[in-house]
Amino acid sequence: LVRFQGVRKSFGELEVLKGIDLEVKSGEVVALIGRSGSGKSTALRCVNGLERINAGELTVCGRTLHDGKVDLRDLRQDVGIVFQSYNLFPHLTVEQNVTLAPRKVHKIGSKEARELSDQVLAQVGLSDKAKNYPEQLSGGQQQRVAIARSLAMRPKLILFDEVTSALDPELTGEVLRVIAKLAAEGMTMMLVTHEMAFARSVADQIVFMHQGRIWESGKGEMLDNPQTPELRQFVGNGL
Ligand code: ATP
Ligand code: MG
Repeated sequence: LVRFQGVRKSFGELEVLKGIDLEVKSGEVVALIGRSGSGKSTALRCVNGLERINAGELTVCGRTLHDGKVDLRDLRQDVGIVFQSYNLFPHLTVEQNVTLAPRKVHKIGSKEARELSDQVLAQVGLSDKAKNYPEQLSGGQQQRVAIARSLAMRPKLILFDEVTSALDPELTGEVLRVIAKLAAEGMTMMLVTHEMAFARSVADQIVFMHQGRIWESGKGEMLDNPQTPELRQFVGNGL
């Protein structure tokens, strides 16, 4: 579903991605880990066209992104993204937030919108909050609404960038459980996370990024047995 081949990305003089090779198959969950500034968010943002790559090839849901001819609106219907900040509209109810984009893009009517809202809110465990406003919800609930909003577009792939970093520990768990459930249901996802136990339990592939490169990648066991000093230091067992 996603293929990076020798992908490079610079901001001015600063090369942030230095030749990334990575494949995400349909139904797979890939977790990106690594120190601050290693290029994790940039890699994710390239996938839905928020950043344009400078060299290499990036193919997402059958589209070749580097040729500049890609319709980004079209791409973003297939590729959802959820950030640390939920960016819900405060003056709209949960249901209105969730159905805004599909109503506009897919031109669905109000009955269909309500059904869609019921369905995606059930997926994130918030069936009872459709008529509430964002400020009436906890941070964890708001983040789950943001996930439901992404699901309402029926994406083929969802990108999660540190979606629990702003949350208290007790709210983090409820959001991670929702993501784990989506993974179990077969949703393809790429996620940047600092939650190592979560990455290990949910990801098919863990990718450790360091200085713009994929330093190590593998299954969860790679965290127990780092092959490089950099990963060993990152996971914090010694040296
Ligand atoms: P963190 O864990 O802190 O979120 P990250 O691994 O997600 O880090 P990125 O956000 O991808 O790191 O940033 C990688 C590097 O690119 C950093 O040095 C950052 O300052 C730089 N960078 C990111 N976005 C831009 C931008 N729009 N313009 C200039 N430099 C940028
Ligand atoms: Mg980041």
